[in-house]
Amino acid sequence: MAGRANHIVLLGTVLASAVATLCGWPNTGHAADESPRPEIASPFPIASDVRVAGDDKQTRFILDLDKKIPLRAFALADPYRVVVDIPQVSFHLDTGAGTVARGLIKAFRYGLVMPGGSRIVFDLAGPAKIKSAYALDPAIGQPARLVIELEAVDRTAFVQSLAVENRPDLRPAVGTTAAVATTVAATAAPKPADDARPVVVLDPGHGGIDNGTQAGGEAEKSLVLSFGLALRDRIEKAGKYRVVMTRTDDTFIPLGDRVKIARNQSAALFVSIHADALPRGEGDAQGATIYTLSDKASDAEAERLADSENKADAIGGVNLTEEPTDVADILIDLAQRETRTFSNRFARLVVGEMKTTARMHKHPLKSAGFKVLKAPDVPSVLIELGYVSNKDDLQQLMSENWRSKTVGAVAQAIDGFFAKRVVSAAPGN
Ligand SMILES: [Zn+2]
Repeated sequence: MAGRANHIVLLGTVLASAVATLCGWPNTGHAADESPRPEIASPFPIASDVRVAGDDKQTRFILDLDKKIPLRAFALADPYRVVVDIPQVSFHLDTGAGTVARGLIKAFRYGLVMPGGSRIVFDLAGPAKIKSAYALDPAIGQPARLVIELEAVDRTAFVQSLAVENRPDLRPAVGTTAAVATTVAATAAPKPADDARPVVVLDPGHGGIDNGTQAGGEAEKSLVLSFGLALRDRIEKAGKYRVVMTRTDDTFIPLGDRVKIARNQSAALFVSIHADALPRGEGDAQGATIYTLSDKASDAEAERLADSENKADAIGGVNLTEEPTDVADILIDLAQRETRTFSNRFARLVVGEMKTTARMHKHPLKSAGFKVLKAPDVPSVLIELGYVSNKDDLQQLMSENWRSKTVGAVAQAIDGFFAKRVVSAAPGN
């Protein structure tokens, strides 16, 4: 899930700067970190500062860059969002940037959405139209800037303003030279014909613009990627299965594409890897939990978790209503019954192996309606490795020793799953 409200950073007052002088707009809340940043050579344009100014009628967003970049901005409904696609940018912004509401902008987040493309997603306080969106060349004493101006409108006007070209398909922003396929699903190489090994798809959750949960400066997206890569290495070393990763770097992958990868690869097993967090003030919980797909959540916590994990696409600015469903519901239902039996069996194996090495949740087997587990023909489980909101869990999640042992346990469960499968598929069984 996304815990982007976890960092509370006080935005200092400030800066009669660009905004106020240039435009006569109200003074801006400015992230007043004036400390020099270490110089890191970046092949990409660098965003160095961000300001939001205005009120609930008009709000202006300004991003400072070291060079002018092209952009493409569009709005999305339910929830109200504005998405700005730009070429890949290195964001050198304060950690709290985007977490404080101002005017029409409730919050915003930013990050890589695919190789060659970054994205900024604004959560809006209400319906608003993009009054203008443009880039400015550097001027004397001013860096290059990207400016987005929003204006409050009523819902009817907002919906009318959603033009066809607003469709938020993942493609590089205007002017990007990087040649990137539309989705990872399209680029993942199909299974080689001479490779008869079962395919295991490992799916580190979140990525890019979607950080997932966060605590103590650790983002879920990084923790689960490290775990996924270590698990891949372990499995590949044994050589019994072919491993396909839904992501191997800090890239955003829509939920539907993760499922597509599993299906296109005719995967025999799909393992999604996450780390949960309890919202503030909702007590403490600890330990690993293994989730399978169910129409009906096994308990309120499982339902909360599925809801928040399912928000990944909205966080990344992918419009869920645009997602095509490629299989009729009834077919899904039939295939899923058998698939679910396999999923449940694998989930029990994971619990059995993991409890020897890792701390488990007091109810370690749960189910809920996770979108990422919906491949009708691929046994799928989602492992929540622990709670980043729990101090001891977080310490484990960051420990090399814990990771190595737990990777071993999951690999053991995968072996158990396929061993049983081979036996029961043999004649006379
Ligand atoms: Zn997650």
